Amino acid sequence: MSVTEAYQQTANELCQQYQVGVTSGLTDAQVVAARQRYGANLLPVKPPAPAWRRFLRQFNNLLIYVLLVAAALALFLSEYLDMAVILAVVLVNGIIGFVQEGQAEKALSAIGALLCNRARVLRDGETRQLDASELVPGDIVILEAGDKVPADMRLLQVYNLQVQEAALTGESVALSKHSDVLTGVVALADRRNMVYSGTLVTQGRALALVVATGSDTELGRINQLLTKVQLLTTPLLQQMAQFARYLTLAVLSVAGLVFVLGYFRDYALSYLFMAVVSLVVAAIPEGLPTILTIALAIGVTRMARRNAIIRRLPAVETLGAVSVICSDKTGTLTLNEMMVTTVQLAAARLKVSGKGYQASGHIDGVDNAADRQTLDWLCRCALLCNDARLTQGATAEARQIQGDPMEAALLVLAQKHGLAQREQMQAYPRHDEIPFDAAHKYMATLHSDHQGHAYVFIKGAPEAVLAKCQGYYSANGAVALDSHYWQQQVNQIAAAGQRVLALAVKCLSHQQTLLNERDLQQGVLLLGLVGLIDPPRPEAISAIADCQQAGVRVKMITGDHAATAAAIASQLGLADAATVLSGYELDKLTDTELRQAVQHTAVFARTTPEHKLRLVSALQQQGEVVAMTGDGVNDAPALKRADVGIAMGQGGTEAARDASEMVLLDDNFATIASAVAAGRNVYDNLKKAIAFLLPVNGGESLAIVLALLFALTLPIMPLQILWVNMVSSIGLALALAFEPAESNLMRRPPRRVNEALVSRFVLWRIVLVSMLFTAGIFAVFNWAIAQQLSVEYARTMAVNTLVAMEVWYLFSVRYMQGPSLSWQGVKGTQAVLIAVAIVFGLQLAFTYLPLLQQLFHSQPLSFSHGLLCVAVAIGVFLILELEKWLSRRWRQA
Ligand code: ATP
Repeated sequence: MSVTEAYQQTANELCQQYQVGVTSGLTDAQVVAARQRYGANLLPVKPPAPAWRRFLRQFNNLLIYVLLVAAALALFLSEYLDMAVILAVVLVNGIIGFVQEGQAEKALSAIGALLCNRARVLRDGETRQLDASELVPGDIVILEAGDKVPADMRLLQVYNLQVQEAALTGESVALSKHSDVLTGVVALADRRNMVYSGTLVTQGRALALVVATGSDTELGRINQLLTKVQLLTTPLLQQMAQFARYLTLAVLSVAGLVFVLGYFRDYALSYLFMAVVSLVVAAIPEGLPTILTIALAIGVTRMARRNAIIRRLPAVETLGAVSVICSDKTGTLTLNEMMVTTVQLAAARLKVSGKGYQASGHIDGVDNAADRQTLDWLCRCALLCNDARLTQGATAEARQIQGDPMEAALLVLAQKHGLAQREQMQAYPRHDEIPFDAAHKYMATLHSDHQGHAYVFIKGAPEAVLAKCQGYYSANGAVALDSHYWQQQVNQIAAAGQRVLALAVKCLSHQQTLLNERDLQQGVLLLGLVGLIDPPRPEAISAIADCQQAGVRVKMITGDHAATAAAIASQLGLADAATVLSGYELDKLTDTELRQAVQHTAVFARTTPEHKLRLVSALQQQGEVVAMTGDGVNDAPALKRADVGIAMGQGGTEAARDASEMVLLDDNFATIASAVAAGRNVYDNLKKAIAFLLPVNGGESLAIVLALLFALTLPIMPLQILWVNMVSSIGLALALAFEPAESNLMRRPPRRVNEALVSRFVLWRIVLVSMLFTAGIFAVFNWAIAQQLSVEYARTMAVNTLVAMEVWYLFSVRYMQGPSLSWQGVKGTQAVLIAVAIVFGLQLAFTYLPLLQQLFHSQPLSFSHGLLCVAVAIGVFLILELEKWLSRRWRQA
């Protein structure tokens, strides 16, 4: 059976062909057979570049070219040893880059795999949530607004379904779909009874039968291969890479100039060559791009461990600069474990006892037959106008819910009243529905009772439902509705922090199978209100406090009632919790008024996704960097607009995930706060790596330029510089990529988004440290020469001093402004200690191993001279501590 014909067949024919029941789905045995025949529902992924090509890519870099030219020059000047060492360094650098890049990419693709597409499937008579890759032809799938269509499917039942097929046809306007048969040959874009893999459900619901999976789908056919490779870069890293390129070019020009000048000053050619190569090698920060990429990859992996999945890497940087977090309430700030505690009838407020989703508990306070009958219908409405399912877990406490937790709570309410879901659904089968939509805030379903009566059940936000009610349901016939009274009841229940829903019914004396909004214009009777509790997440309370301390303002944007939202906001400890702006009021504000209002309003209630977009824009115009959460398909524009769009991994739709930069696996606000902290941490570490590496290069090149200017002996030889830069600098800087957060991380305000990475402060530090390093190198070198020690010996001391200064500077730079002279600071981290131990070992080898002595012209140092090198380094460290202390005092003054 080919896909092109499915649209020409009736639903019955197709179900027969796949031997599947519309209400039961495939059996497990059928799935196994189909799986063997068709394979997994996956599109072939482009294989990664072969290892040899990735290895060669490491050499495609300006510095390597420069080094290769240097090696060629060495060959030309018959300096074979120099040539061999340069080539060895190039090779080692390539291998390190290859391994690191491989690991970073592996980490990222492992994170990507956490975000698989899910599908709701009917199998063996029950609804299951499965990974979309497990679908087989013949499966019956339930589609809802926000879902990404997981395979090519023929629609069987459709409720108001609209699908955006841009992924396939390029057309971004959503099309409405139906389930009728089409005759003749119909073009792909016009097959309104089919939905195709990769397209997006923007509205409504549907039941559909899978007819093609994996590469048999239309997407699989037109699609070339899916490229999954994510570039390991961010704007900041690109800036730095460009900076490194400019620097290299500048260094090359200066080196050329030095060469020309030196040539006319009659330096020997080989000496000049050595000097120029030294300068080039000294001034270029070879390790910088690698270190920055690694710091970024470590940040992303750390965030993933805390349930925050970064979908677009630049978000790591932006997260650290976030100044406002706009969060949904339900499920993110609250537990989304709902329970009905209040039922309000016309003349009685009933209390509902019980715990969570457990069936034990009572509805207390009904004392007459009329109320009992109203309660009966209210519970029936709660049960039937409902898409959730409760399944019994191993114990009474471990009940599983499927679907919306609020609807599950309504099922529990009905159960406490003695109504069983299965029986009621059989007694009152559903024929049609108007699905819930955040814009109209209600849901309605149409049922019949096998005796020629039909019922429309409605539940939703009180103002939406009350506006449709003409009277109040009573056993003795409808009575007039006292709107003022009911509004008061809503406000009272909401002020206690409860979510309020109104339930209503319309009874019809004739059979009806289709429902539309016009049916709700007359004859609707209110059944009552229910109040549900949804406690705040305890961890959100402390996370909000942390954010507020870190200068990040938190705003609650909810579809819920203003009074409920305000009550929950104050339980959460949100600053300005009492200032609430409702969607209705928001509509009346001009853009200018809104820009002012957003600054001091913390709670936005009864909002729609369109309001979210206006709020993000208003905040951004005020210069804020905004993180915004969202879960529905209509939240996508606001998520895209926000600086960091955050989608929900559990409750959210695929559409929201596609539009966002980050996904919360646990839907928890506390995770956002920890991601902000992690973002700040990554940025700090990038800054530290730069502040660490650049002065080392600065110090080395300054030493060489000075030597040339004043016709002094070079204190460090080119190969030795290469050794320092490629071995100790990179090893030590790598430790900085693992630095944990500084203690004041969440106690300082967010950084300005346009703040330069190399700020004036960092620049000053770079200049100061460069000068200190140069002074240290010359001091030790000249002292050794003055002691009548050989030039080689003096150079070995200079190299060891330089590396010792690097090690001590590493301890200093770990706290950019705070003191490093504390037990915590000296103790370092595991990464720091390992790096220092390795570098120490390598320096011993450099100084004492005959083979390396030959390569680098080093000499074995006496113990006391070794100590002297370390002492000079400690001196530099102390000077830097003094500088930090002075600048702290100066800032405080
Ligand atoms: P948040 O935006 O913080 O997640 P929310 O879940 O209350 O809050 P919406 O989903 O937009 O936001 O819901 C808005 C209102 O619509 C709710 O307060 C409730 O009154 C009503 N509502 C929500 N879900 C349903 C549903 N399944 N059926 C009927 N009414 C609903």
